[in-house]
Amino acid sequence: MLDYSFSDEQEILRETAREFCEREIAPKVKQMINERRMPSSIWKAMAKMNFLGMNVPEEYGGMGADPIATAIVAEEISRADPTASIPVLFLVDNAWSYLVSKYGTASLKSELLPKVVKGERIVGIASTEPNFGSDIGSMKSYAIEKENRYIASGEKAYISLVRDIAEIGGGFVTVLKTDTKKGTDGVSLFYMPYDRSFDITYLQEMGREGSSWAAYSFKDISIPKDYMLGKLNQGFKIIHEGFEFARGLISVISAGAALKSLENGIEYMKNRKAFGKPIVKFQGLQFQLADHVARMEAARTTAYKALWMYAEEQKSGRFTRFQVSKEIAIAKLLTTTWAFDAINDALQWQGAYGYSKDCPEEWALRGIRSFQLAEGSREIMKVIIARETIGKENM
Ligand SMILES: Cc1cc2nc3c(=O)[nH]c(=O)nc-3n(C[C@H](O)[C@H](O)[C@H](O)COP(=O)(O)OP(=O)(O)OC[C@H]3O[C@@H](n4cnc5c(N)ncnc54)[C@H](O)[C@@H]3O)c2cc1C
Repeated sequence: MLDYSFSDEQEILRETAREFCEREIAPKVKQMINERRMPSSIWKAMAKMNFLGMNVPEEYGGMGADPIATAIVAEEISRADPTASIPVLFLVDNAWSYLVSKYGTASLKSELLPKVVKGERIVGIASTEPNFGSDIGSMKSYAIEKENRYIASGEKAYISLVRDIAEIGGGFVTVLKTDTKKGTDGVSLFYMPYDRSFDITYLQEMGREGSSWAAYSFKDISIPKDYMLGKLNQGFKIIHEGFEFARGLISVISAGAALKSLENGIEYMKNRKAFGKPIVKFQGLQFQLADHVARMEAARTTAYKALWMYAEEQKSGRFTRFQVSKEIAIAKLLTTTWAFDAINDALQWQGAYGYSKDCPEEWALRGIRSFQLAEGSREIMKVIIARETIGKENM
């Protein structure tokens, strides 16, 4: 039987999350933009609500929430914070701490995960390098085994949350070459705690004012062997489970932000008069609105479907990895592209005010744009969809 409804429990979670986000996040967004950092009270309040590391198993202090519950909270956060800053902190921390829960050693999990749940540690992702992004097999940063440790050197670039992690605590799921002669078969994943010796260059972003973004180089960092996630040289296989969770959350976040922008735009159009009537009565604008509502409702449904497939695959292997990759890629491609267009028109409906720094659609347009690149670009989503449709042999 096909059932597209959320359960009563999920509806209660949404109501709770919405009430929280409207109370704790929405009123602080302007302050966040002005100060260009997340007010620490938001992170603490999120920890109190058990919204950090939601997927962390109960034995490590988490809720053991499934990806749909996480997505419901993500969507509500994105409605409250149009800059996409808090959504990014939430999604990256949740998706990558999930990978630690799944592939970390027992000692790493008991050391790290209870602190993630309390908001005392944040888990980021460090894959991209100055000269390599999409092409993970070509990366240069490496780790060499030495007694019971790995010694890592290299550089990472365009990494989200670096300042947040430096200040609050935590580290990065870090992609490193453990066999430099091989491409993707020579890659392993490590949890690399933030180290004060990192040589950091902070980067200016187009949006996401409350988050942080940086490049950093590191030299001879000693990583305990039991900070490896999964097995040696198997990193490329498991990293996609983190990317797919993150991409699914990005999809729901983009849909949530766009639908909220459309609501804002409709409200404005109902109140703004031109040529003797509210501008909402102009069919030219109604048709734009109808196109965006149709696209965003469909894309949102696709996003939840993709995350449901991901959850089923993680739980029971009901779908294959490749089926999940394709559905998640479809969701990310549609939501991120269409959300940007929807927000752009919602800004347009608000005339000159829409272009001003006071308008949430101005913040949203710049923030949501990042999702056509972050955690896998728009084009890479198309590569995945094409590959899983026509077969690897035709690529
Ligand atoms: C706001 C933001 C936050 C980010 N946060 C993080 C983070 O926390 N951690 C992290 O590791 N990385 C992060 N990134 C980096 C992001 O993952 C990369 O930007 C992305 O993977 C693309 O890599 P690249 O920028 O090196 O582009 P490249 O891989 O060099 O690609 C350049 C262009 O070519 C296209 N392209 C590449 N290959 C193909 C192909 N086969 N077919 C067609 N087109 C192709 C790309 O889509 C892109 O448009 C972030 C990026 C942004 C913008």
